[in-house]
Amino acid sequence: MIRVGLGQDLHRLVKGRRFLLGGIEIPAGRGELGYSDGDVLAHAVTDAVLGAAGLGDIGALFPSSDAAWRDADSMVLLRSAFSLVKNSGWRLVNLDCAVCCEKPKLLPYRDNIRYSLAQALDVSPDAVFVKGKTGEGLGPVGEGTAVEALAVCLLEKE
Ligand code: MG
Repeated sequence: MIRVGLGQDLHRLVKGRRFLLGGIEIPAGRGELGYSDGDVLAHAVTDAVLGAAGLGDIGALFPSSDAAWRDADSMVLLRSAFSLVKNSGWRLVNLDCAVCCEKPKLLPYRDNIRYSLAQALDVSPDAVFVKGKTGEGLGPVGEGTAVEALAVCLLEKE
C-alpha cells in the first residue's frame, strides 16, 4: 500500500529569532516567530508524514497550549512524529518540499537541509528534495515578512 501526504506551514519573520529550515540554521538577520523554535519546513514535513499515515497533525500531537513545546526543537518533534509513523509499519519513499521566502537564497544550504531531513526520516538524502522559491514581491512572502513551506511525501507499507 502507498499513501501520499501534504503539509504546509507559514511563519512570520522577525528580528531576534533564528531562521531554521529542516534543523539547519541560516544567517538571515531575521527568523521565524513561533511557539516552538518556528522551523517552518520541519512543521510542514511533520504534517505531511502524519497526514499520509492518517495519524493526525502537528497541532494535535504538540499543542501550543502545552508548555512542554515552548521553544521546542522542531526536529525533535519531527523525529517523534515519524517514530509513530514507522511504528504503524510505514516507511518513507520520498519527500519533496518547497520553501517560499524572499531572501536569503537557499541553494547554498539545500544539501545540508536535505541531509538533516533524510537523517530524521531514515532515508537516503536522494529521497529528499528541497527547492527555494520567492514570492515575486507579492504578499507576505514577497514582502519578506513571512516564510512558507510546502511538503509532499509518499509512504509505503508492505
Ligand atoms: Mg508552524
